[in-house]
Amino acid sequence: MAVGWQTANWLLFVAAVGCGCYLFVKAVYRRVLYMKLGQTAEFKVRGREGAGTFLSQVFGQKKLFKDLRSGLMHFVVFYGFIVLQFGAIDLIVKGLTAGGHLPLPAYELFSLIQEITVLLILVAMGYAAYRRYGEKLRRLKRGWKPSLVLYFIFSLMLSVLLSLGFERLWLDLDYSGYAPVSSAIARLFPHPTVATAQALFYLFWWLHLLILLAFLVYVPQSKHFHLITAPINIWLGRAETPGKLKKLDLEDEEAESFGVGKIEQFTQKQMLDFYACVECGRCTNVCPASNTGKALSPMHLITKLRDHLTEKGAAVTGKSPRVPELAFGGGGAANTHALAEKAGRAVEWNAEGDAITDIRPTLAWQQASWTAMPDASPEQVELIGGVMTEDEIWACTTCRNCEDQCPVGNGHVDKIVDLRRHLVLMQGSIPHEGQRALQNIERQGNPWGLSRSDRDKWTGEIEGVRVPTVRENPDFQYLFFVGSMGAYDLRARKISRAVARLLNEAGVSFAILGNEERNSGDTPRRMGNEMLFQQLASDNIETFRKYGVRKIVTACPHTFNTFKNEYPDLGLENVEVLHHTQLLDRLIREGKLRPRYEVKERIAYHDSCYLGRYNNVYDEPRNVLRAIPGVELVEMARSRENGMCCGAGGGMMWMEETAGKRVNLARTEQALAVKPTVIGSACPYCLTMMEDGTKMKEVADHVRAKDIAEILEQAVFGDSPLRQNHSIGG
Ligand code: SF4
Ligand code: SF4
Repeated sequence: MAVGWQTANWLLFVAAVGCGCYLFVKAVYRRVLYMKLGQTAEFKVRGREGAGTFLSQVFGQKKLFKDLRSGLMHFVVFYGFIVLQFGAIDLIVKGLTAGGHLPLPAYELFSLIQEITVLLILVAMGYAAYRRYGEKLRRLKRGWKPSLVLYFIFSLMLSVLLSLGFERLWLDLDYSGYAPVSSAIARLFPHPTVATAQALFYLFWWLHLLILLAFLVYVPQSKHFHLITAPINIWLGRAETPGKLKKLDLEDEEAESFGVGKIEQFTQKQMLDFYACVECGRCTNVCPASNTGKALSPMHLITKLRDHLTEKGAAVTGKSPRVPELAFGGGGAANTHALAEKAGRAVEWNAEGDAITDIRPTLAWQQASWTAMPDASPEQVELIGGVMTEDEIWACTTCRNCEDQCPVGNGHVDKIVDLRRHLVLMQGSIPHEGQRALQNIERQGNPWGLSRSDRDKWTGEIEGVRVPTVRENPDFQYLFFVGSMGAYDLRARKISRAVARLLNEAGVSFAILGNEERNSGDTPRRMGNEMLFQQLASDNIETFRKYGVRKIVTACPHTFNTFKNEYPDLGLENVEVLHHTQLLDRLIREGKLRPRYEVKERIAYHDSCYLGRYNNVYDEPRNVLRAIPGVELVEMARSRENGMCCGAGGGMMWMEETAGKRVNLARTEQALAVKPTVIGSACPYCLTMMEDGTKMKEVADHVRAKDIAEILEQAVFGDSPLRQNHSIGG
C-alpha cells in the first residue's frame, strides 16, 4: 500500500478521533456545568453493601431482569458491547496497519467470539425494534428520535461485518470456520480486484469509525447519556433506607426558601438522576397514578425536569447543550419547553374495554402538554405551573413502585415531596381537603379533628381484654402505638382490639400512651408540611423518653416506617420498632400464639407499600397466614415488590381523586381477579381502601377485607367474638 495513503489515513484518523473526543468532552462538560447550578449534595461513600448493589445492578442488570425478555435483550447488548470494544480496537489496528491485527494468542478464537457477538447484538436489536414497533409496548416511545440508537447499532454492526468481509477478499484469506460471517460475506462478492476489495474495506472501515464517533458525540446529548451517568448514579445512590425523606433544617436562619420552587434548588445528585434516565418507561408502567388516568407520569416528571434544567442551564451559563453548535443552525441554542395551556385540563380517561389499568391516557396527556415555546426564555418558565402542574404533584401516593423498578437508581418521591414542601411551606397551596386534614392534625392530633381526649376511647369498647396505659403498666416491654386510624376510625379500631387481645393471649407485657399519644406525622411529612411533622415527632420522642420506651409495636406501616427510619434523625435512639405482623409471626414461632381454629378462606394478601417496598416486610404477614389451618393463600398478579398501591399513601387518604379511575377500585379489581373470599392486608389505610373497593364492586357480602391480626384472632379464639360495648362510639 502506498506510504502516502497510509500516512494520510493515519492523519485523518487522528484528526477524526481527536475531533470526536473533543466534542464528546465538551457535551459532557456542559451538562456538568448545568448540574453544578444545583445545591451541593452530600455524596456518601458507600460500604460493602453499596458495592454489592452496584455490582448486581450494573453488572448483574438485576432491575432489568424484572422484565425477563427486555432484561435478556439489554444483557446481550451490555456485555456484547464490552466484548466488541476489543473487536473495535482490532479493527482500528487492521485499518492503520494495512491488514495487520492485534497480536493476541488464539486470535482465531478471538475472531469467532467477535463475530458471534455481532450476530447476537443484531438479534437483540431486531428484538428491540419488534418490542417497539411489533409488540408496541405502551411504555416505549416510538418515532425516529427514540429509535436512533437502533439505527446506530445496526449500522455499526453491519459496517464491522462488511469491513471484515472485504478484508478477507483484499488479503485473499480462505473461508474460515473461525470467521463464518465475514467468510460468507466474502463469498457474496466473487473475484473483485485487490484494489476494489481494499477500497471497499476502507470505505466500511471509515464508515464504522465515523458512526462510532458520531454516536460518541450523540450519547451525552441524548437519553443514552445514561451509559455514563447510570453507573455513577447507582454508585452514588442513597446509602440510607429507601424512601427515607431528607430532614429540613427549619432552624437555618440563612434559608430563604424551603422545598423546591426552582430547578436549581434541587441537589446536584437529584440532577444526576435527570441525566441518568433512559426513558424506558418502567416507572410509568407501574405507577398507580399513571395507571388510573391521573396526569402524573414518573418518567415525564424526570424528563421534563431534565429538559428544563438543560434549557435553563444553557441560558444561565451561556453554553449551548448542542454540540457541535454549527450543526444546529449556528448558535445551537436550546429550545424552550413548557406546559401548554391544555395542561390545565384533566386527563381524558378513555381506557380500552374492561382494562383494569391503562397508562395510555396519561401518556397522551403528557405528550400533548409538553411543548416547544420558541418565543419564551427558559428563565421565564416557572417550575411549578410551567413544568409540573399541581395536579401532577398531588397525584403521587409515594408508593415507590417507580423507584423500585428504575434500572438506573432514580428517586422520584423525594423530588415530588420537595415540590410539595415548596407549595405548602412557601406558597400555602394545597388541595383543601388535604389542608383540612393537616389543620386537624395540628389542632387535635388526628386528621378528623376529633377530640384529643377521645384517643383512648376504643379501649373501653372491649371487655375482658386488658389494655393498660404506660402509667398503669410502667414496666411494659412493648409500647403499642395505636396511631390515629387505630384509635379513631371505627373499622380500624377492630384491628387495635385484635392486636391487644392477641398480645394479652401471648402474655406480652404492653401498654399504650392513651391520650398522650400524638399523630405519627407521616401524613404531614408526605404532604410537605415538614414543620408539623417535626413538631409531632419531637412531642412523641419526648413522651417515649419520659416513659422509657425501648420497643414499639404498631399496626400502621406508615407509623412503623417513620418511627423506624425517620425519627432517628430527630433524636429517637435505641428503640426497636416492629410492625404487628413481625411480632405476631415471632409469637407464633415461639409457640406463644396457637392458631388452632380452622379459617376456611381463600385469602389474597395485598402488600402495603410502606411495609413491603419501604421496609422489605413481605414474608411475615404471609407466614402468619400460612400458620393458620384452612387458609388458602393466593397471590395477585402484582404482589410483593410489584404490588400496586391501594391509593392511600402520601396523604392521598385524605384527598379526593378527581381524575380517571379510583386507584383502590383498580387494586380491588386486581385482587378479585384471583377469586378470593378475603382480601388480607396489614395496614389500616389499605383495609379501608380495599373495603371501599369491594363495596364499589358490590361484592362486599361475599368478599371481605380483613387485617392479618383479625384473621389470626379468628384462628386463635375461634368464632367467639369479644363482648363489645357498643355504647361507646367514635
Ligand atoms: S411513588 Fe408511586 S404514585 Fe408516586 S410517582 Fe412513583 S409510582 Fe407513581
Ligand atoms: S424507570 Fe428510571 S430510567 Fe426508566 S423512565 Fe423511569 S426514571 Fe427513567
